[in-house]
Amino acid sequence: MNAIDHSLRLPRTDLYVNGAWVKASSGKTIPVFNPATEAQIAEIAAASVEDVNRAVEAAHACFESAAWRRMRPLDRGRLLEKLALLVEDHADELARLETFDNGKPYATSRYVDLAFTIDALRYFGGWASKSAGEYITLSPFFDDGGIYRAYTERKPVGVVGGITPWNFPLGQAIQKVAPAIAFGCTVVLKPSEETSLTTLRLAELIDEVGFPKGAVNIVTGYGHDAGAALVDHPLVRKIAFTGSTATGQRILAASSKTMKRVTLELGGKSPTIILADADLERAIPGAANAIFGNSGQVCTAGSRLLIEEAVYEEVIAGVAEIARGLRLGPGLEEGTQLGPIVSSRQFERISGLVQSGLSDGARALAGGNRPDRDGWFFEPTVLADVRPDMQVITEEIFGPVVCAIPFKDRSEIKPIANDTPYGLGASIWTRNLDHAHLLADEIDAGTVWFNTHNILDLAVPFGGTKMSGLGREFGTEAINAFTEPKAVVMRLAGEY
Ligand code: NAD
Repeated sequence: MNAIDHSLRLPRTDLYVNGAWVKASSGKTIPVFNPATEAQIAEIAAASVEDVNRAVEAAHACFESAAWRRMRPLDRGRLLEKLALLVEDHADELARLETFDNGKPYATSRYVDLAFTIDALRYFGGWASKSAGEYITLSPFFDDGGIYRAYTERKPVGVVGGITPWNFPLGQAIQKVAPAIAFGCTVVLKPSEETSLTTLRLAELIDEVGFPKGAVNIVTGYGHDAGAALVDHPLVRKIAFTGSTATGQRILAASSKTMKRVTLELGGKSPTIILADADLERAIPGAANAIFGNSGQVCTAGSRLLIEEAVYEEVIAGVAEIARGLRLGPGLEEGTQLGPIVSSRQFERISGLVQSGLSDGARALAGGNRPDRDGWFFEPTVLADVRPDMQVITEEIFGPVVCAIPFKDRSEIKPIANDTPYGLGASIWTRNLDHAHLLADEIDAGTVWFNTHNILDLAVPFGGTKMSGLGREFGTEAINAFTEPKAVVMRLAGEY
């Protein structure tokens, strides 16, 4: 890795609507903070309901235009490819901006977030020309002498409302925009009010590529008004949401009024399960990485560490040692392994939950405190002696905090692992493939990993069961998420 270049250029901070930069009608703004210093670094526009309505109308006009409808799928793919090239050219700059805004280490921004963003643009760009329907031979239950056939076509759902969280801001934005465009939809995206800067920079690059006006609109603002306005608008035909389960529930309820399609990627309390026969040299760092990566601000973070009793002490001691050795610091400082928490609100939430665990009787083997420095830093924390009724084990913490739980034998894994309203991810660490497959079958999770954790790939469907969400993104599932089948049935007269 080259030395980090500290120069920063802030993007425009107005709303990007119908291919132009416009001020928020209310003139209201939202302050943006650097989590490593707690200093205010920018102000972004706070879109009102009227602003969102204008963006939706622009997206709808574009969607209905002959130019958009007739654009060759291959050319929609080319738009995404051109954007991929531009993002690639600006990858260092975008990574620095992400770190500045979100706090994550530069290496994470550059080699996880930006790498994913560029790949996703290319991956979905490739899909644009490959969405196909079916040709079906019918079996009519009557015989009128006709021959019946049908074909289906995948039709874009229409205007998509994308609503994204703050933990992987640019990656999440692309996760909504790229498939929407690839499959012929248009989009209004509302990024998290905590971390909108890279999405605004993306809007500048989209403008440079020259997408048709209104195809992609970016409106910054708060969830309760700008986000809710997007969900309420009858011309928005689908909401692609990533965020908390509580917000997902609100969106699902509100979407029923206009029968919107929804995909919801929500919270988790994912187990990392270590069996006694695991290769502990891989499992211990794997378990630490599963929870401390991105400071635990990952929906699939391995926040519950289930360990077979025979190796329990060795594993918790190993994970605690790694936690104590991690280097906390500003994301733009060379050598930083763990950045700050994104906001004071999240910091307070993590701190409060850890305190509640400690007063309920949990024992901190590592961390548990705020280090003595500016910025919303929280020490990587390993908690043992956790009971199933404690808040630290029932609630998603979304921070660098793992709760260790011993189990006696395999029969105890399923009840403990599934004792959560969530079902997003799970990893199983073992050398016994039979055990791994049998356990994978039993655990409620959208994704199960063997001897690894948090591996996401654009070709693999991603999403959650139970309260972790609805629907899937990525892979062939993305076609279902952004299109609907239209069936055309025909009667062919005559005989063979
Ligand atoms: P959040 O739900 O507070 O906010 C997410 C987005 O929703 C923001 O843009 C916000 O402005 C908007 N919003 C808030 N209220 C709204 C409303 N009433 N109507 C419409 N939009 C509204 O979540 P967050 O704190 O930004 O992100 C953290 C959460 O996201 C965690 O629970 C995490 O597990 C989850 N997450 C899930 C995944 C996944 O893929 N499953 C990925 C990343 C994060």
